[in-house]
Order: sequence, then structure tokens, then C-alpha cells
Amino acid sequence: ASAPAGLVPPHALFGAERRNSTGFDLNDAMTLSRIDAARDTQIPDAAPITVSQPSGTPAPVLNPATGETIAQILEADSATVAQAIADARPWEASAAERAAVLRRAADLYEQNFGVIFATLAREAGKTMTDAVGELREAVDFLHYYANQGEARDGEARGIITAISPWNFPLAIFTGQITAALAAGNAVLAKPAEQTPLIAAIGVRLLHEAGVPVSALQYLPGDGATVGAALTSDARINGVVFTGSTDTARVIARAMAKHMAPGTPLIAETGGLNAMIVDSTALPEQAVRDIVASSFRSAGQRCSALRCLYVQEDIAPNLIKMIKGAMDELSVGDPWLLSTDVGPLIDAEAQDGIAGYLDANRSKILHQTPAPKQAHFLSPTLLQVSGIDDLEREIFGPVLHVATFRNRDLQKVISDINARGFGLTFGLHTRIDSRVQEITDAIHCGNLYVNRNQIGAVVGSQPFGGEGLSGTGPKAGGPLYVDRFFRPKAGEATG
Ligand code: GLU
Repeated sequence: ASAPAGLVPPHALFGAERRNSTGFDLNDAMTLSRIDAARDTQIPDAAPITVSQPSGTPAPVLNPATGETIAQILEADSATVAQAIADARPWEASAAERAAVLRRAADLYEQNFGVIFATLAREAGKTMTDAVGELREAVDFLHYYANQGEARDGEARGIITAISPWNFPLAIFTGQITAALAAGNAVLAKPAEQTPLIAAIGVRLLHEAGVPVSALQYLPGDGATVGAALTSDARINGVVFTGSTDTARVIARAMAKHMAPGTPLIAETGGLNAMIVDSTALPEQAVRDIVASSFRSAGQRCSALRCLYVQEDIAPNLIKMIKGAMDELSVGDPWLLSTDVGPLIDAEAQDGIAGYLDANRSKILHQTPAPKQAHFLSPTLLQVSGIDDLEREIFGPVLHVATFRNRDLQKVISDINARGFGLTFGLHTRIDSRVQEITDAIHCGNLYVNRNQIGAVVGSQPFGGEGLSGTGPKAGGPLYVDRFFRPKAGEATG
């Protein structure tokens, strides 16, 4: 087997430190006082931001931690979407001017931390650790794609549809848009239905920085109205999407039917991510990384660990330690700095996972208590015999654990590969040759050794998978912006 496209960071015991391109750091007193000051921030209502006057239907936006209405969103109707497509114009500015505007937007994002933290917490249920991480990632994307776009000389494709997820409602939303804008395209941005407010804040700041409205229009609404219209129109020259594998298939079919052949779809989808912990691993470190990979962001990351394989000899001790670490997790109010795990995004997510846990009650090894309100769900550990016991990706705080014997390691790897996903993979071992062996054999986009397997850093850990997990190119990597330029003569299309 050839080496996967993913990179292998140095597998020293201390793992990787996150680079910080902003002034925000949860270890510093300034950031803590800024979070404190953000608590009473008013979150504004939002409506489509388009060249022509928009119309649509008002809907409430709900707080997933309490079920309360935070603000109103006007969801775009079909006429507004059709008019926005007609009004879209690629950004007429030099690459250097575009980059300067995106850098100015990065500064505005940082200056507007108050409303950003408040909206991430109340609209998306983000804990403060996650909110700070998300603002940093959004700012990283702005700088990274500004640099990448500026370094290239090319022609925009035209109009790009960007459909983004609720789990990184600012970072991924901003990343998709910024990459397309850095290449000079016009963008039609559809945020996830659950998180339109934070997206509207990002778009307003991009406009304030100098992006023309005709180059960036904001179209909140549902998939059936807005998403369908934006993926089935011959005037669209490319689609960038992050979400479920099933939705990516729907988009691909619509594009094939309505758009020019070869119109690119960049899709970043799900995963059934595994980690292997062998008997040479350092247990304390492995447990910390297992718990972070599975339960941080309430498991609502496509990079999250879903199926842990522990070598038989150390399994009883390691599982006992995982249970102990789960007991230390604090599940609750995202605004408290002491909170580790916030709510699920909505009732549908909560009901779906609660139903899954009910059906698998006999496999439950351990649960952490969670508040009995709105959309909280107990972090849960389930015993399975292997990845084949997982029917599907469970997008929440649910970890499956299996044990393996050393002589069955090859079988474990082929079982993981056989599921057809290939997003993240984690490995805890202190055997160097094993790192190489598994790196060569495993199908994945991002492989992490002796550290957690979430939180890819823009510019140093390009993020994206293969197979059912996505199309590439990887976000936050050097190939991404290229896809938003028209291929030059002699280059492959699509
Ligand atoms: N890039 C994120 C991470 O590495 C995951 C993105 C996603 O969940 O879509 O944790």
C-alpha cells in the first residue's frame, strides 16, 4: 500500500501544541476578561444579505442549551435565491487587493469577539474552549487563504455555492467563502439552518472589510428551498459543501443533472474514525486524548473518535481509566469556563442518538450525567466487538470500544478500511516501526500519532478525507484555493 495523503506529526510524547494566530488564548487573563465582557451581548436578528431587496419567511433561532428563542431569522424564499444568482458578480479587484480586504476582515473578526463568542455559545451551544478555538480557526482561514490567493495568478471560475455545517458555523463557513473569494469568485453562501446568526455576523464583517455585496450574498434557509436552488442552476460554476455523505450524494446528482460536466464539487463529509491503542502506549496520555477526541464539542465533529481499539492486555486498566476520566467531565452551561461538554445542536440530533442508545442499551459500559433539559445528552461508552458493529456515524458524545489481540492487528486495519470512510485516524504506540506500518496501511486523510485526533490546524494540518469522507482537496492546505480558479490550458479540468 502507498502512504496516505495525511501527514504524520512527530510522535513525541507531548504531541502537538496548537499555534495561535490571534490574541486569544484561554490560558491568558485578557481572554478570560473578554469572555466575561461578552456575556450580555445582544445577538441581532438576521435576514438575507443580497444585492436586491430580499423576501422570505421569519423563523425563530433556538438556543440548544435551553430551547429558548435567541433571535429571528428571515429565511430566503425561491424568488430571493433566483434574484441573488442573477445579481452575483465575480469580485473585480486584483489578487493583492482581495488579500488586503480578507486580512482586514480577520482583524474585524478579532475586534468583534464579543458578539461572536455570545452567538457561538447561544446559537451553537459552543463551550468557551470551543468558541475561542473557532474564532481562531476562522481568523487562520482568512489569513491563510488571503496569502494563498495572493500568491496565485489565475482567473475566477465564476459563481460558487457554499453550503456550510452547524458544527463549525463560523470557521468552516468562513473558510469556504474565503477560499472562493481569494480566487475572485462570487459566492452564494447558505449557512446551516440551525446556525444562521453567526454566519450573518461573518458576512457583515466581510462586507465591512470591503467585499462587495455582489461578490458575497448570504442566503439563509432550508436545504429543500435554498440548498436545492443553489445546487441545480446552470449558472453556478462550483459547489463547496461540508455535511453528511448522504447530502453530498444528493448535491452531486443535482449538479450532474443541471450543471456543465466537470463543475467541481468539493465535499467534506462524515467519518467512522478509529483509534488504535497498543500495549506500549502511555495510558495517562492515551486516556486524555481518547476523551478529548470523543467528547470535546459533544462529539459533534466529523473528525471525532467513534471506535477505539485497545490491545487486550491493557484493556481492563485503560477502560477503567476512561470511565474515571468520563466521571470528571462537566456537562452543562456552555458559558461556564468549567464546562467540558455542551448540548447537542437540536431535538432531532438528540432524539436520534437517544434512540440509538436505547436500542443498544445492553452494550453501555458507562455514562456521564448530563442536565435533563433541552438537548443535553450523557457522554456514553459502549462495548462493541469491532467497527462492524457501528451501523452508522453517530454524531454525538458516544464512544465505542473494542479490544484486539496483537496477532489480529492486520484484521483490525482491514476492517477499518473496509468501511469505506477515511477521515481521521489515531494511533497510540511507542513502537516506531508500527507507526510506519500503520501509516502505510490505513486509508485516511489525517493521521495523528500519540495525540488527540481533532482540531486540525489551518496551514499546518490540511484537513479532509478520502472515500465516503470527501472529495478533497484538503481545507487549510496548499491545494484548496487552486480548485477555485479556472484550470489553465493544459491542466486537468474538474
Ligand atoms: N477540522 C475539524 C477538526 O479537525 C473538524 C471539521 C468538521 O467536523 O467538519 O476537528
